[in-house]
Amino acid sequence: MAKLSDAEENLLKTVKSSEDLLVEMTKDFISIPTVNPPGSNYVKMVNQIDMWCRRLGLDVEIIDVPDKVVAERSPESQHQPRKIILAYLGAKEKRPHIHFNGHYDVVPATGTWKVTDPFTPILKDGKIYGRGASDMKGPLASILVALKALAEYKNELNGVASFSAVPDEEIGGEAGARYLVEKKKTFADVCIIAEPSGVETIWDSHKGQAWLEVTVKGKAAHASTPWLGVNAFERASRLVVCLADNYVKQLPSKQFNKLVPYADAIPVVTLGGVVRGGGKINIVPDNISFTVDRRTVPGETFEEAKSEFVNALYACADKLGVDRSDLEVKTILAGEPCVLQNEKLKTEFAEVVEDALSLKPSFKICQGGLDMRHFISATIPTLTYGGGDSSKAHIADEYAKVSDLLDAAKVYALYAYRMLSKHH
Ligand SMILES: [Zn+2]
Repeated sequence: MAKLSDAEENLLKTVKSSEDLLVEMTKDFISIPTVNPPGSNYVKMVNQIDMWCRRLGLDVEIIDVPDKVVAERSPESQHQPRKIILAYLGAKEKRPHIHFNGHYDVVPATGTWKVTDPFTPILKDGKIYGRGASDMKGPLASILVALKALAEYKNELNGVASFSAVPDEEIGGEAGARYLVEKKKTFADVCIIAEPSGVETIWDSHKGQAWLEVTVKGKAAHASTPWLGVNAFERASRLVVCLADNYVKQLPSKQFNKLVPYADAIPVVTLGGVVRGGGKINIVPDNISFTVDRRTVPGETFEEAKSEFVNALYACADKLGVDRSDLEVKTILAGEPCVLQNEKLKTEFAEVVEDALSLKPSFKICQGGLDMRHFISATIPTLTYGGGDSSKAHIADEYAKVSDLLDAAKVYALYAYRMLSKHH
């Protein structure tokens, strides 16, 4: 374990002294319900982040995602504006450029909330409760607290540390992080995403989502004369049973060239998250659709996963005598899996975690999808590390421990300081 220099010790103390600010910002962000879908209160949220950034002495840039891009990529919520906020400590054209990213949208507040209302944050027993506390309004505050501390050491730094807050991560990031890198290209040398990996874990990879919808067609007829129709519901049911036996069960043991060594990097699939169709009790249904949520692992691609599924579906259809032309498979989301292949970043960052927190982090794959793929596809080496707890995200009574958010802030500050320090 490397020893901290005096300057580094002081930097961490500076971060620690911002605990109240961290709590205040986290609560402030949670209280704006940026629920997605549909993408509510985005403008209000960006204005609020903007206010905090300026108060902390950062230069701010706001990117408006064009309506056309939103309409193409988020058609269901195209009347909600999308904005990306960037903030810089140092001149933005300088190098090296260390970037921190997070998303400001949250999933809807489902379930029964007992501790507090989802958008009325409270601090209780060292934990902040509210929708987004872990995923990821608390982590956004961690980044800002780190940048505030770094700002006090500005004169010792070369290059620039920056921050972006993006919308739409919860629906794939197409009109958020993807648009940011399309616009800014390879603007940074390194990106750290502050999603809640937990302070002992670094995510160097994540699974992808291949989301499909299958429509099974039949022929409508009055229910009193069903022999004149073809029942799409019965067809779909037989197909689903066949898929469950011949595809769903086998998938986790699929052999392929996995690009990550983790035991829990397993391809999985869930059928029927959403089922639609039929119409009337007394009509033979001519159309049933069901969704397919296939999680891909680095080493697989969306196209492969989709054609693998279609082949399995066709094999079942052929066996059951269902005409292939009565089946339709539509893509809902094509989110690729992703892995960071940059040992230098991994080693340097893990060392910083160890020095800042006196613990040895482990590398893991994130089971969900992340915006990492967008940054990595823009050739920006990116990993994910954040305080908060992913197992508390997306559920009722979501919370984050203040000490974890503060620890993550220490890591961000120390990492940026080491990378940007003139004496490095
Ligand atoms: Zn998230």
